[in-house]
Amino acid sequence: MVRVFLIMKEGWEAIIGMEIHAHLATATKIFCGCAVETGAEPNSNTCPVCLGLPGALPVLNENVIELGTKAALALGLEVQETSIFARKNYFYPDLPKGYQISQYDRPFSANGTLTIMTAERDDSGHATHWKPMDIHIQRMHLEEDAGKNVHEGLPEVDKYSYVDLNRAGTPLGEIVTAPDFRSSWQAYDYVNHVRRVLQWVGASDADMEKGNLRCEANVSVRRIGEEKFNNKIELKNLNSVRFMQKAIEYEIERQIAAHEAGEPVNQETRLWDEKNNQTRVMRSKEDAHDYRYFPEPDLQPLSVKAEFIEQVRSRMPELPDTMRNRFIETYQLSFADASQLVGDKDLAEYFETTARITANPRLAANWVLGEFTRELNSSGKSAAESLVTAEDLAELIITVESGKINNNQAKEVFAEMFASGKPAAKVIEEKGFEQISDTSAIEKIVDEVIASSEANVAAYRGGNEKLFGFFVGQVMKASKGKANPKVVNDILRSKL
Ligand SMILES: [Zn+2]
Repeated sequence: MVRVFLIMKEGWEAIIGMEIHAHLATATKIFCGCAVETGAEPNSNTCPVCLGLPGALPVLNENVIELGTKAALALGLEVQETSIFARKNYFYPDLPKGYQISQYDRPFSANGTLTIMTAERDDSGHATHWKPMDIHIQRMHLEEDAGKNVHEGLPEVDKYSYVDLNRAGTPLGEIVTAPDFRSSWQAYDYVNHVRRVLQWVGASDADMEKGNLRCEANVSVRRIGEEKFNNKIELKNLNSVRFMQKAIEYEIERQIAAHEAGEPVNQETRLWDEKNNQTRVMRSKEDAHDYRYFPEPDLQPLSVKAEFIEQVRSRMPELPDTMRNRFIETYQLSFADASQLVGDKDLAEYFETTARITANPRLAANWVLGEFTRELNSSGKSAAESLVTAEDLAELIITVESGKINNNQAKEVFAEMFASGKPAAKVIEEKGFEQISDTSAIEKIVDEVIASSEANVAAYRGGNEKLFGFFVGQVMKASKGKANPKVVNDILRSKL
């Protein structure tokens, strides 16, 4: 029996809004020429601009505008003709200027509608009933990232904080939604959607483990029918989508329980405590910053022309959802198969090439999602890293279809192709799998078998049909297993 996982307590609804910070995948920082790279010697990628030294002036990196435009278009946002950089003032050791250059009331892009696919999950976490959902994305603005305070593996960390400013000045797109989500799984599906499209269009690596995509969730609950919002909790530092989902789920339950018990739910920032599977307070509202935003005097208003946006749009690849729908329509694939294929752009392209060459999309999808995906998973390789090209796989599929080798042999051949990168024909030859389908060659063997088994032939013709298998076995044996079984059957039937 399937019980729907984590049903919302009756009479209550959750109100969830999401904020995502995504590093835009530029080679250099947003306002200076320092390299953006992970794993560099601390503070080696710095200069007077990103160190915040007095008198240093920011210059906007043009590539940020291109990647920002790609991201905005992929998320259904409107790029604004004019946006304005603003100083967000606060003090923190990883922010040497004492302010972060961000955008405030005139963001880079706004007013987006993004259609995502979302599903609730059953007990084992399997998605049930995918359906489309429109998310209103209020804005994506551009800003610089701060540096990082480092405590691990350094001397006297109980006394000192260490600051690494390599990350300071890395370009970010901050993507803010309306409070549209009503469940943790909707938020989960949204973040995965955003990650995938940002990677897909090349706007961001969107790798949460490496910290180049971070998300925050604003969560509150209210009784169904109530208009006013209750205090919301901000969940921060969620470093995986799964932890985010768990943290939201925990918060929903915690807040409903508090409201029902008549206890206050304070507006505060909480963190996910992975060890104890619960959220805990990071800071309360009293510590909230007043950022005193004002326009950045050292940067011009940013103006993005319509022609530029159209140029970027024309260079964008087909987006995954469009591709998925096309796969369903053109190739008659199921929603699940098509979704799995577009889960990775290289895999989707691999499938499509294989489908086109073989002219058999169903079989191509079976191979790509079956043997190919299995080999990728067990080797830890991506589709792009595979030694077997889509053309090689197509050749193998065509060979199986022609009846030259059977399906089990094909699987064995494919495993060898994947390991060695050799083409199908070569592996088939090496393994001696080539089937004999030549009728005259098989006829000759059949004649010999019939001639040498007089007694059995007589018995078979006398009505012992079970003996048919005996003849098939003899012919296969004489051909060393290479005879095409279907041809053998046909010839035996006609000769006996
Ligand atoms: Zn710099």
